[in-house]
Amino acid sequence: MCYTSPVLGAADFARPCNKIGLTMPAAAKVQAKRPPVRSDAKTAGRTGAVRRERNCSVARTLDIVSDAWAFLIIREAFFGTQTFEAFRSALGIPRATLTGRLRKLTELAIFRQVATGTSQRKEYRLTRMGFDLYPSFIALMQFGDRWLSEGKPPPLTLVHSKCGCDSHPLVSCSSCGQGVKARDVQYRDGPGAGRHPAKNSRNTRRASDGGRFQLGRPSSVSRALQIIGDKWSFMVVREAFFGNRRYDKILTALEIAPNILTDRLSRLVANGVFRRRQYQNSPDRYEYLLTDMGMDLYGPFIAMLQWGDRWLSKGKPPLLLKHLSCGSDFRASVVCNRCNEPIVAADMQYKLAYDPTAFGALGPRSIT
Ligand SMILES: [Zn+2]
Ligand SMILES: [Zn+2]
Repeated sequence: MCYTSPVLGAADFARPCNKIGLTMPAAAKVQAKRPPVRSDAKTAGRTGAVRRERNCSVARTLDIVSDAWAFLIIREAFFGTQTFEAFRSALGIPRATLTGRLRKLTELAIFRQVATGTSQRKEYRLTRMGFDLYPSFIALMQFGDRWLSEGKPPPLTLVHSKCGCDSHPLVSCSSCGQGVKARDVQYRDGPGAGRHPAKNSRNTRRASDGGRFQLGRPSSVSRALQIIGDKWSFMVVREAFFGNRRYDKILTALEIAPNILTDRLSRLVANGVFRRRQYQNSPDRYEYLLTDMGMDLYGPFIAMLQWGDRWLSKGKPPLLLKHLSCGSDFRASVVCNRCNEPIVAADMQYKLAYDPTAFGALGPRSIT
């Protein structure tokens, strides 16, 4: 069984279809009674039983960028920062922490080290894999600009040098070129579908650690990641895109501790990603529906999915996406809303609404 995306379609329930081969969670259906919750889901967080996480390219991407320091370093690199001291100045990051993160990002092949002239000093340059994160950052930035600017002008305006226009990139279908909305996408298992034992370290990061995302220059990408960069929050939103909107269904799908799920749902409601709707009395039960803002996270999600598929899936994407509007399987493509050309870092210029030197940071400069 496969299912048509998410969330809140007609009658607020995802529409199942008759394709075969899916082990994904079934689309949300009206349920007469509370479904049973697997005991491992109830107890995994407390007993140390091994949780098994769904293979997910977005999660693989977020495993890297949800580490706030790693994210901030990559962001500064997109502004042209290349040296240890410049990263330190822009982020106020402790030396040992910066050394560790640069080493890790180099091991991950996001950066490569290059020698400069006769000096012993090395610089850090983004690799192709690193540059390819740029569209995901841009998609997150657009989301942050739209929803998290608190009425102020966005921190920066993008100018696309290919067309010379101010650009508000959008996430489009690689097949038909049209923008992609959550409701227009159908999923099925790809060759990399399945589950794997969960690593606990990142998952248990306290959501309050997200404040670190705001270090350094003002950034809409930071604001977006502060909401979903916490791994649990992200997975709860992902389940909503899969049509799981009830507490028990999400608990079962994610096999997480109830207190963590309760905490993340509360945060996501407070942040405007979900709204709560009562669907049962005695006892009172609620379901969690994505708001317009929550639905708008879909673009960044599939942009990050695309990156994870390309670089971390060994040619076996866990999930295949079909665009219902054109009937084709597709990849997410982040394109300029003016000229429709794919966004790459080297083609982008910036108009800043702030003075980067006030943050010890470099102004944007061309990067190659
Ligand atoms: Zn399409
Ligand atoms: Zn353009």
